Amino acid sequence: MTNKPATGVIHIIGLGPGDNALLTDDARAALAEATDLIGYVPYVARVADRPGLTKHASDNRVEIDRANHAFELALQGRVVAVVSSGDPGVFAMAAAVFEGLDFGPSEWRSVPVHVHPGITAMLAASARAGAPLGHDFCAINLSDNLKPWDLIEKRLRLAAQADFAMAFYNPRSKSRPEGFGRTLQVLQEECRDARPVIFARNVSLPDETIRIVPLNECTPNMADMRTVVLVGSSQTRVLDRPMGPIVYTPRTAPKARS
Ligand code: SAH
Repeated sequence: MTNKPATGVIHIIGLGPGDNALLTDDARAALAEATDLIGYVPYVARVADRPGLTKHASDNRVEIDRANHAFELALQGRVVAVVSSGDPGVFAMAAAVFEGLDFGPSEWRSVPVHVHPGITAMLAASARAGAPLGHDFCAINLSDNLKPWDLIEKRLRLAAQADFAMAFYNPRSKSRPEGFGRTLQVLQEECRDARPVIFARNVSLPDETIRIVPLNECTPNMADMRTVVLVGSSQTRVLDRPMGPIVYTPRTAPKARS
């Protein structure tokens, strides 16, 4: 027998978009094992209290502190669940935990870390609307907390020129409320058409709303931090039906002209 300290484990878990029916069995099993739960206040609140589970809820924007806390607890032998909404690899805690590990003490590298995927907001939203992401698409985080606005605008322009459908996360950041208005201006300039834009708010929750608006009629107040925005490509179509429209992007693209 050696006297090595007990090593726990870190599970980085995606809680899905909100509805418990969209939480995977794998995530549920990992949550059931946890002794400690780390995450942003509203996500930690989504996990039911039970004996033996200690919750460590924190405010937004302290991702690296959470990551460090997770390793400290795991080295004490705890089974730590770090939770994110949607998928933890999409603008969320998984990269933050690995960044903590990258720059943290070398002893942290002996801690097992497992990532449990979840249904990310853009996929839950796209399923509600039809299949707007059926061809090539990209996902852009419109928050400029962690990157300069110039870079966001460059990516937007190039994505529009490349005719990707797009998904926007964090469309209106508190620190830069004008950012989404600027986003719409850039798209309206680059695309010059009435392609459908989907504003999907609180997807899978009881107050879910899905609005489909032509690009040239979109206004900044249509999105907030609870909204994921999907923008079609030039090929995206709206199918009208008596029970409501379907938005889809065909799987084939027109041949490029030589
Ligand atoms: N890891 C998360 C994204 C975190 S960034 C995921 O994979 O979904 C937070 C942003 O995600 C929000 O600003 C919003 O744009 C989007 N979002 C998360 N849950 C949502 C939901 N239920 N409905 C609509 N958008 C959601």
